[in-house]
Amino acid sequence: MTERVTALTELKGVGHARAQAFFRIGIESAEDLIGYYPRDYEDRREFTPIAQIQRGQSVMIRAQLLNTPTTFRKGRLTITRARAADASGSIQLVWFNQAYLTKTLQAGLIYVFVGKADHKYNTLSLISPKFHKGLEEERGILPIYPLGEGLTQTILRQTMRQALEQVGRQEYMPQEIRSHYGLCEYNYAVNQIHFPDSYESLDLARHRLIFDELFMLRLALAQLRNQRMLDKKGFRIAAAPDEARLRKNFGFALTGAQERTWQEILADLSSDKAMNRLVQGDVGSGKTAVAMLALFAVARSGRQGAMMAPTEVLAAQHYESAVKLMEPLGVRVGFLAGSLTAKQRRDIYERIQLGLIDVIIGTHALIQEGVEYARLGLVITDEQHRFGVRQRAALAAKSEMPNVLVMTATPIPRTLAMVLYGDMDVSVLDEKPPGRTPVKTYCVNYSYEERIYKFIDKQVEAGHQVYVICPAVEEGETGDLHSVLELGEYMRKVVFPRRTVGILYGSMKAAEKDRIMQEFYEGKIQILVSTTVVEVGVNVPNATLMVVENAERFGLAQLHQLRGRVGRGAAESYCVLITDAVQPLTRQRMKVLTDSEDGFWIAEEDLRLRGAGDVFGLRQHGLPELRLADLGRDLPTLREAGEAVNQLLQADPDLRQEGHGLLKEQADHYMERGKDLAL
Ligand code: ADP
Ligand code: MG
Repeated sequence: MTERVTALTELKGVGHARAQAFFRIGIESAEDLIGYYPRDYEDRREFTPIAQIQRGQSVMIRAQLLNTPTTFRKGRLTITRARAADASGSIQLVWFNQAYLTKTLQAGLIYVFVGKADHKYNTLSLISPKFHKGLEEERGILPIYPLGEGLTQTILRQTMRQALEQVGRQEYMPQEIRSHYGLCEYNYAVNQIHFPDSYESLDLARHRLIFDELFMLRLALAQLRNQRMLDKKGFRIAAAPDEARLRKNFGFALTGAQERTWQEILADLSSDKAMNRLVQGDVGSGKTAVAMLALFAVARSGRQGAMMAPTEVLAAQHYESAVKLMEPLGVRVGFLAGSLTAKQRRDIYERIQLGLIDVIIGTHALIQEGVEYARLGLVITDEQHRFGVRQRAALAAKSEMPNVLVMTATPIPRTLAMVLYGDMDVSVLDEKPPGRTPVKTYCVNYSYEERIYKFIDKQVEAGHQVYVICPAVEEGETGDLHSVLELGEYMRKVVFPRRTVGILYGSMKAAEKDRIMQEFYEGKIQILVSTTVVEVGVNVPNATLMVVENAERFGLAQLHQLRGRVGRGAAESYCVLITDAVQPLTRQRMKVLTDSEDGFWIAEEDLRLRGAGDVFGLRQHGLPELRLADLGRDLPTLREAGEAVNQLLQADPDLRQEGHGLLKEQADHYMERGKDLAL
């Protein structure tokens, strides 16, 4: 990377301890700091005459303190009050639990007070105003940053000013794009986003920086797309002449949605253009069967089909299905995952390379360097939301002419689908196989704990299995969250000593994880206490109860996925969300789940309730998250950015032309930042 990185300690006033405090909020360099944008601003440009203050307004006044502050107690609060006046009028000042102010503030002196006005104790007041004596306080529209331990607004503002002075970056956006889309200069934008001269210049700065974020995102995706050789030809694959025999092995008739999706896939496969299709289908909508039909057709056409799943357990399940469905029809099915011995792996590599295997199912192991395919004609990624765009590309790159099928159970809001999969055709499995009973969903608080334990026991007694999910506890996190280990041990030893309790979490060794999952699958484990690692597509039809601890901690889409683990068999299934949170928003979010099992609707509601942020899971897709841009709100800018990227790449596909060098650097840097996939 050519970009120079400025250590925080190179800035004046930043020693080791302060650098640590910044580190804790994810800031490691002056460049990082500059990208740490304010969450809000306060207008500290003008003093407001007291007579003009309105309720709810955030103001700065210059006023004389009329009396020594007095205190009184009200319950657990000590309330301190005083009055201050300027030429236009006077106002009450109120502080809570700051009795020392009676000694600090002196009647008769002139102070600057900064705070919000509200009605208190029968009169308009400034609530807990900050104050200082002189006029030396910073003026202007001041940034308000999200803080961390050991950091104050003053520290952040000072350090930010330093960083802005020391770190400049040359303009990288080509002039023609800047003038066409009315973008201000880069350094100006960065300075103004932190310390705006006016609200107009702040708007200009925001527009430029939001455009940049979306431009980089579109550029990165466009480049990945090119790597996937979008308009290349794919192998032509016809319908298998004996498809009916495979269908017979399913033991069920396809749903209308499965049938339609399969026809769409078949049309792609039999054209000479490479297939590039996304199948979106809610949990349990039967994506596997569609995948099997495609793999079978590919095998019958004399090509190889590969299917990649995010976990070994899931891959093994798909492998079992494929063996059962296709081997009787003479298709050779192989399995490739991390748990194979070196010898087994060599053996399977060889058979893949020699074309002795038609359908190969596995994990990331499928995209390892050593794997060479004889004539790969189709690649499928299952549960795409667990993979990065990059891994999808890596598997496709194993073939000269890949047909790509991507399956996901995450109902993606349309806007995100447009960005992430803008180049793909989409099929939607919007119908569930018949005979499913809805999962009865309840939301309760912890006063129900005993009853829930009894209910768990009842399910196990009836021969069923139970999931208990708790949020992953990160190191250093405090509070009363049940950590998976604690809860698991407690259940094993205290609550359910007569049952088999398994514990599963992300940082366990892969082999250990697989063993536990396998035991649960085989029914040897009755109660599985786990983090969300079980979220992905495993099918244990005998599990009838899903209990989620601290449910407020999870996204709605994730809770919906978790719930999808039950209700897969004939028996009545239940999902119990436990939370003590009383905030209206949490209540509303839980209600979305107790009201509906429609994944698409839930995703839209999630977006509506949560608003901006990384709702879109860009990080999960291996891309840096958006800081200022909001894909819901900034759609017009998103379109402009996409248009700008297309024009740019048409004129200069590799960004080799003069004037595009800095942009190329910036784009590479961007991809670099998103490299670590959250898997
Ligand atoms: P997902 O879309 O979540 O991957 P699966 O492919 O695992 O769903 O299918 C869920 C369950 O539904 C499996 O047990 C599968 O055998 C069954 N299934 C799939 N399609 C049908 C169908 N058309 N009729 C009846 N059962 C089906
Ligand atoms: Mg699945």
